[in-house]
Amino acid sequence: MRNVILTIDLERDWDTTNTDAIKKVLPRFLDLLDKNRSKATFFVVSDLATKFPKQIKQIVKRGHEIGSHSHTHRHLNNIRFDELEQEVKKSKQVLDRLGCNVQGFRAPAGIRVAGLSDVLKRYKYTYNSSTIASWFPGRYNELANDKPVVRHNGLVELPIPNFTMFRIPAGLSYARLFHPFFTPSLSKQPYMVYMHLHEFLDRLPSNKIRPDVWLASYRNRGERAWKIFENMTKKHELNFITCNDYIKLNPNSLSQKRTN
Ligand SMILES: [Zn+2]
Repeated sequence: MRNVILTIDLERDWDTTNTDAIKKVLPRFLDLLDKNRSKATFFVVSDLATKFPKQIKQIVKRGHEIGSHSHTHRHLNNIRFDELEQEVKKSKQVLDRLGCNVQGFRAPAGIRVAGLSDVLKRYKYTYNSSTIASWFPGRYNELANDKPVVRHNGLVELPIPNFTMFRIPAGLSYARLFHPFFTPSLSKQPYMVYMHLHEFLDRLPSNKIRPDVWLASYRNRGERAWKIFENMTKKHELNFITCNDYIKLNPNSLSQKRTN
């Protein structure tokens, strides 16, 4: 078995106002994690958490970690610096009040902005998992940053790695999009994978979904998504762990790599 971080971004369905994923998918997903003795980090949008406090407490009770995925899921490059600060500060307050002990942050849509790591440090976060280490026209350009590092200010960076020779992000949505064209010979072994619970829903929302997101979400939804996720776990003998567990298990390798 190989330890791999499992991360789930818990937000409204595809940036709509729908909340089917947290209502319908979360219970089955938690059961599956229990069955496989897996642990995961859920990066939660905290204004959604205020509407579903029971579900958030259930995630904590079953031994998983909660991180912040901002308060409102607004993209950080579209807001003022004081609003960014508020997204970081308020989401931690709200989630901690629900008993979460938040350590980590993931920026909405993997969009980072200058100064984010200092703001995270100021509000007592210990790690950031916002970089998507891939190249995708107009979206990601972070191929080099694919390994965990510690910043000069002490903040641990856990980038979302790529998992094939084509540098595709290690996410369930991409595994579904390109299924079944991934073969073991094309795959790298990522230290972390990420997904959204709305990927397990049968239906896409009929409105308000961006065309590129619709395209990436169209293939292998619902039961097929469950199957792809289960196969990925079994075939590669993955033992899923949380971000915090990973940091605790790898203190030496993280402390050796300091960066600005
Ligand atoms: Zn998100």
